[in-house]
Amino acid sequence: MAQQGFDVVVVGAGIVGLSHALAAARRGLSVAVVDRDRQANGASIRNFGFVTVTGQRAGRTWRRALYSRDVWDRVAPEAGIPVIHPDLAVIAHRPQAMTVLEQFAAGEMGADCRLLSAAEVQARLPMAAPGALGGLWSPHERRVEPRTAIPALAGWLESARGVTFFRDTAVRGVESGAIDTTAGRIAARHVVICPGPDLVSLFPERLAARNLRLCKLQMLRLAAPGWRLPAAVMGDLSLVRYEGYAAQPGAAALGEVLAAEAGDALSHGIHLILVQSADGSLVVGDSHHYAATPDPFASAEVETIILREARALLALPEGLPVIERWTGVYPSSAEETAFLDRIAPDILLSLVSSGTGMSTGFALGEEGIATLLGDPDPLEAT
Ligand SMILES: Cc1cc2nc3c(=O)[nH]c(=O)nc-3n(C[C@H](O)[C@H](O)[C@H](O)COP(=O)(O)OP(=O)(O)OC[C@H]3O[C@@H](n4cnc5c(N)ncnc54)[C@H](O)[C@@H]3O)c2cc1C
Repeated sequence: MAQQGFDVVVVGAGIVGLSHALAAARRGLSVAVVDRDRQANGASIRNFGFVTVTGQRAGRTWRRALYSRDVWDRVAPEAGIPVIHPDLAVIAHRPQAMTVLEQFAAGEMGADCRLLSAAEVQARLPMAAPGALGGLWSPHERRVEPRTAIPALAGWLESARGVTFFRDTAVRGVESGAIDTTAGRIAARHVVICPGPDLVSLFPERLAARNLRLCKLQMLRLAAPGWRLPAAVMGDLSLVRYEGYAAQPGAAALGEVLAAEAGDALSHGIHLILVQSADGSLVVGDSHHYAATPDPFASAEVETIILREARALLALPEGLPVIERWTGVYPSSAEETAFLDRIAPDILLSLVSSGTGMSTGFALGEEGIATLLGDPDPLEAT
């Protein structure tokens, strides 16, 4: 490759890298994205495509999610990305879960959410399994199909925003002014590294200092059940996992009940999200297992628990087959949901260190480019 030069070169074409590319291109800068894979293959196409707002950790993570949701609303129509679900329904089966939802709805993050009676759950979600005590309807969430949305976003950045993509190109080193790749050097005024779960190839010592582990998640797809969900669906287990709910005073009591009644689910980090795809099939998950090097195996036991909990939430037709299974991995920190590490004035490491990249990536991209250019904090400016 003859040496080419760009204002901003982004390493990694997952949602975090694409978000930085968008933020730079939006400012009229010349941008290149470099990825070692020929096509999107990481967490960004393996997730639910669920842009979650209400469940996020209060404070900056929640504000990042609100900001990013608004970017999805602007970009999705331009990039030809269908928003498959606009909303979220949380269905409660335990009185303690209803208490958490009531407390959540009364707080800042519950604004515009609506508590539902049992009858309202049945009216809005006729496919809900029997026994719901009530629920919460949130207008804040969105759901896109990640395996088509990420390629569509990259294609739109290329065709409409002039971003150059180098695929099949691994980045071996980064220094001020240039990156060294398997296809040659690329000159760069600024470099943003968005490596997802690759904690060893670039600046491993900076990443090691963050005490990161990898989190492995197990997912499955069920055949179309013959009805259409009006919203993404979560249940009681999510209320002790998602920090926006788990921070409510009633969450401890719910945790005790769940430990007694669904301890196997908790021990595998299982909570339930069910979303639907355009063809009617349902994406269901997930579990959370943490390790320095997670094993690649999907567990039958985990799948059985996920399916049991899915049936507790929705009246799935008997014998509905699992038509796909996969696992995914993201980096996880016990302290921070994401971080920007300024390695040099012109080199930035950007990582979502929690399961929130689809929900918060666009905001982090704006923050990352603002940091490099010395612009004001975009989240303060809104
Ligand atoms: C199963 C699952 C479900 C999830 N559900 C949700 C959800 O519903 N909502 C939500 O908000 N988040 C969810 N997440 C989290 C979300 O998917 C991640 O936070 C997000 O995708 C991280 O994006 P990324 O760009 O950092 O990483 P990735 O998508 O993994 O991309 C990293 C890219 O960097 C490239 N790369 C790395 N090193 C190099 C190098 N040296 N040279 C060249 N290229 C390199 C890789 O090839 C890869 O393409 C989920 C995650 C999983 C696994």
